Formats: sequence, structure tokens, C-alpha cells
Amino acid sequence: MAANTIWTIKKLINWTTQFFKKHGIESPRLDAELLLSHVLHKSRIYLYTDFDLIVNPSELAQYREYIKKRISGFSTAAIIGEKEFMGVTLKVNEHVLIPRPDTETWLEKVIQYHRNEPGLTVADLGTGSGAILLSFLYFCREDRGVGIDISEKALEVARENSKNLKLDDRIEWRQGDFLSALGKDELFDGILTNPPYIPSSDIKDLDSEVLHEPHLALDGGFDGLDFYRRLAKDSASFLKPGGFLAAEFGIHQAETVLELLKSSGHFVSFEVIKDYGGIDRALYCRKKLES
Ligand code: GLN
Repeated sequence: MAANTIWTIKKLINWTTQFFKKHGIESPRLDAELLLSHVLHKSRIYLYTDFDLIVNPSELAQYREYIKKRISGFSTAAIIGEKEFMGVTLKVNEHVLIPRPDTETWLEKVIQYHRNEPGLTVADLGTGSGAILLSFLYFCREDRGVGIDISEKALEVARENSKNLKLDDRIEWRQGDFLSALGKDELFDGILTNPPYIPSSDIKDLDSEVLHEPHLALDGGFDGLDFYRRLAKDSASFLKPGGFLAAEFGIHQAETVLELLKSSGHFVSFEVIKDYGGIDRALYCRKKLES
């Protein structure tokens, strides 16, 4: 980025797009736009309406820092502290997993299945930024939920997001370890979760962007399946008859997760949902009406 050039928005975006491409960044133009709009405190649309605007030196300096950080392995969401998920903007930081588009694919389905059943109460286990619970309640306006996370710092982010989205009056945030944070007599209409599912020994091989995310939100034990064993053993006792369980899992885990839940004997109507890449990504099932 030569110092003697007059940098307009257009030039900056084009230059950065090429630069990011060279560094193997997946969505170079989008990232360039998101970073620049953050520096300028403007929406992305504004970049296009003011393509020829000259960016001032202090903004340019900040943008340069962002670009360096991006190619050093931080995701754009981590840099700007924000991520779009299910059409809503969520605050994110180093204490939460950054919500993924892959989670949107199954969550959209689950919302479709249940949006015409007002009055449900759902639990989100390992809520992180609150992404899953917040989007569910954003679209299911008459429902309520409990969001659980072991990390108090993650819950701070979730709480802030729920206030920003004006959903806090329908949510109880609760600190605790997965299902053990639920009360003995609590019964939900649905349980949603994107638990940690990376096998412990694979954590070190993750992309640097993921490595900047909390390991607590990623590490699923030696084979990555610890949390599905817990779901198979205990989740049904917190569901009403016919209540649903929707759980995301990792690549190559579909068969084992399905088997675990099936062999528990508590569930029926199993459906495996694929992500944008056509990879099996989540399981949806219902608790038997009688058990
Ligand atoms: N989807 C994340 C990844 O592949 C993992 C999320 C999780 O463990 N729940 O890096």
C-alpha cells in the first residue's frame, strides 16, 4: 500500500482484495469491505455510494493494522468484534466461538419446524455469543429460552447481544456445565446445542483463525464426542414428550452421533441436516411420546 498514493475507497478495496487473494483469504473482497466499513463507521452500502471518497491518514493507518491482523491469522469477525448470523448482528470477542454459516443451515430448518408453535421454552447448551438461542427467539417471537454456558465471560457477550436485540425479557442466562446446569424438574420443548466437538488431539492442527477462538468451545474430548455421550445419556430427561433435540456435530461424526442417540432408546424421527458444503452437520430428533 504505497504511501504516496491517494487512497480512495475504491482503490483501497481493490488493492486489499488482491492482497488478501494472494494470502489465500477465502472471501477477500467481502473481508476488505467489512474491515473498511468498520474503520469508517459506515455500512457496506456506503462504500459503494462513496467510492471516490479519499480515506484520511488516521483511518488509513487503522485500516492497515486491520489488514496486517487479518493476514496474521485473525478472522474478520474477531478484528471488528461483530458477526452477521441469521440476519442479525452479534457482538463477538475472544471469549466466544464465532458463529458459522454452517450453523445457519440447520437452525433455519429447526426454526421453520417450530415457528408456528408459540409458547415454547427451549434451552441452548453452550450458548457462547448466544447466536443460536437469540436467532431462535428472534424468529419465534412468542417463545422463551434458557441459555447456558460454563464461561461467565461468554455469558457477558450473550447478555449484551440479547439486550441489543431486545430479547432479554424472554431469556434466562445461566452459568453452568452443559446439561448439569438444568434443574431436576425442568422440562423443555426443545434443546439446541452446538457443543465442542473437535477431538482434543486435532486442536493444534486447526486453522489459525479457529485457534484464536476459546478452546473450551472447541475441545470435545479425545474423540470429540464427549458432549453427545452426555446428550444421549441425559438430555431426554429434560425434554417433554415429543420435545426436540437439535445438535450440531463435526465432519465424520454423523454416524456415531446418530448411533449414540438411537441406542439411548429415548428418541425417534431422526433427521441428519447438511451444511452449505453438503456435509452432514446436525442431528434433529424428537423425544418419544411415551418411554
Ligand atoms: N465449527 C467449528 C470448527 O469447525 C467447531 C465448533 C465446535 O466445536 N462446536 O472449527
